Amino acid sequence: MTRDPRYDVLFEPVKIGPVTAKNRFFQVPHCTGMGFLRPQTLAAMRGVKAAGGWGVICTEYNSIHPTSDSLPGMYASLWDDSDVRANRLMTDKVHEHGALAGAELWYGGARSTNLYSRLTAMDVDSLPDLAGHPFQTRAMDKTDIANLRRWHRKSAIRARDAGFDIVYVYATHGYLLANFLDPRMNTRGDEYGGSLKNRVRLVRELIEDTKEAVGDRCAVAVRFKADETIGEDSVPEHGERREMLEMLADMPDLWDINIADYTLEMGMSRFVSEGALEPYMGWVKSVTDKPVVTVGRFTSPDTMVSQIKRGITDFVGAARPSIADPYIPNKIAEGRLEDIRECIGCNICYSCNNLGVPVRCTQNPTMGEEWRKGWHPEKVLSSQSEAQVLVVGAGPAGLEAARAAGARGYNVMLAEATRTLGGRVAKEATLPGMSEYIRVRDYREGQLLKLTNVGVFRESQMTADDVFTVEPDHVALATGATWRRDRFDGKTYVPVAIHGAEVLTPDDIMAGILPKDGPCVVFDGDNYYIGGLMAEVLADAGFAVIYVSEEDSVSSWAGNTSERWRIRTQMMEKGISILTAHTLTAFDGTNAMLRCVYTGRVQKLDASAAVLATHRTPNDALYHDILAKVDGVANKLPFTLSRIGDCEAPSIVAAAVYAGYKFATEIDTVVDLDHPLVFDRMDVGAQPPYTKDH
Ligand code: ADP
Ligand code: SF4
Repeated sequence: MTRDPRYDVLFEPVKIGPVTAKNRFFQVPHCTGMGFLRPQTLAAMRGVKAAGGWGVICTEYNSIHPTSDSLPGMYASLWDDSDVRANRLMTDKVHEHGALAGAELWYGGARSTNLYSRLTAMDVDSLPDLAGHPFQTRAMDKTDIANLRRWHRKSAIRARDAGFDIVYVYATHGYLLANFLDPRMNTRGDEYGGSLKNRVRLVRELIEDTKEAVGDRCAVAVRFKADETIGEDSVPEHGERREMLEMLADMPDLWDINIADYTLEMGMSRFVSEGALEPYMGWVKSVTDKPVVTVGRFTSPDTMVSQIKRGITDFVGAARPSIADPYIPNKIAEGRLEDIRECIGCNICYSCNNLGVPVRCTQNPTMGEEWRKGWHPEKVLSSQSEAQVLVVGAGPAGLEAARAAGARGYNVMLAEATRTLGGRVAKEATLPGMSEYIRVRDYREGQLLKLTNVGVFRESQMTADDVFTVEPDHVALATGATWRRDRFDGKTYVPVAIHGAEVLTPDDIMAGILPKDGPCVVFDGDNYYIGGLMAEVLADAGFAVIYVSEEDSVSSWAGNTSERWRIRTQMMEKGISILTAHTLTAFDGTNAMLRCVYTGRVQKLDASAAVLATHRTPNDALYHDILAKVDGVANKLPFTLSRIGDCEAPSIVAAAVYAGYKFATEIDTVVDLDHPLVFDRMDVGAQPPYTKDH
């Protein structure tokens, strides 16, 4: 297949100061949870993106000095020569495919607590720690500013020596330079504060320093926000931003533009659609002749072309779309649009940085596994035999297992009990705002259609006898899980319904079974998105709803995905009452008993219905039925038997997709259970053997 000429513009080279990007696909800096700790993992991951056709690949935030440390949030660093070598792993991988490598030099200020380095954080003023820790910064004096400029300059030189082609001055996202620019935060009385000219001074100096230090070889980029403060979505509050950019317009070689509201910039698909930064970007290109990059969770080439042709941006900036599909550029180039694995906007990738672990992705199970497992988003090991693979259940785990096993070349049967493929995502995608989650199914269903060696059998509820009848060599049970009607109190599962009352679960609600009457209590013991969604569905259906959680906040785990705040706002806008720090102890059909997790005091609430979103029971009856045929001895089976996804251990969709891919890659391989992983960690080298005398 060949490229549609409509997309030619995406493949034009663009000059950025002394370097030239081979096309307009630009992986903007994004966190990975790998940073300085896992340089090989990082390099392999960025290298796969370069192989996928991106013209520019940047690092995550790359600390310039130990006074800028955000652990446990993982960052890259350019502190010394060993960091030069570590970063070099990445630039080599990126250059192998003709892409440019960009380093985002980062100084965190009041958002870097320095819990690792234990050095005092510094910022424009004595500020409370903006990451929420009970620390404050020291207000920088002139010596501190001179030091900062020296550290920045040295890091820029290290970046150049590590092979980077683009070096960033990072002046947004609430870090130090953003605070110097901010008229409300920067009330300094010296030449770095007060007037606009003074507040811009430090950024100007750093651009000049960086140009002077590395500008002959590297392009200098500035990351900058287009609006001053967070307002209503799509209604920018520009403040002085235009004036600021005008003052610096032609100094850097590239402008990387984002916005004040990170929950919009990193918006979840539940609340924010593709291209959401456009209303903020309208003026930017009229102020500078330098190339501009911005993001927008772009997965549609038509949207990309439209943004470029209408002069919104010069580069298609992407973090998440490049995580979900590192091969988007090549797929567009080859006219394979139907093969694009579109990001679903769930922010599981982002949660990993908050949790201090390597990035993973719901859509792309290979993300983060490029180095230690050698996984690749587009290439799989060919089948090692003529084996017949049976996958039971076509939710995320089963679909991915069938897709990947099929791509390997095995003969695959995928049996699904219902008419609809997709399992939980087919149901969850019908909930308010969740429609993009169906991409998990749609991508895989599309791929299965192309694989003539995969047969998809709908309305095929499999029994143990059926499985034996098929005479497979390998069986994966991806039969999912069912929401429980009780809750876990930390030690045991306790029934909540008393006196014959019935409670509903998310499975009921998603099957269209609504309460007969309200008010409804929704008890969220899962604390990710499903509990809040249940409350929304009931509120949308006209019921009075009270949402209850034992946690101190709504959808507490969704804080990791940066989703929690918008979830709560939306619930409040829908008139849902919220009661945190309470547990549901009993429901009798007319009253719900709610106990405070702190005081133990119980309150009685009028409630005609209760919905429990707590935990799930694996649907593993088929697994046990099969084993029962051979007296529980798996070795006696004429096939290998695996449980995957929620059927093995209920979890997030990303875990199910991962389990499906893992199953497929392990067919006809021997997994060493004692050493299942390669570790990307420092080896201290040879040590003398331990003896008693030591
Ligand atoms: P996961 O998230 O692990 O992929 P899901 O719950 O999303 O799990 O999907 C499980 C799928 O398995 C559902 O589509 C369900 O209809 C199907 N299923 C469950 N039991 C059987 C069975 N015995 N035979 C065929 N399909 C089944
Ligand atoms: Fe997109 Fe979710 Fe993957 Fe992140 S984890 S790239 S949001 S699909």
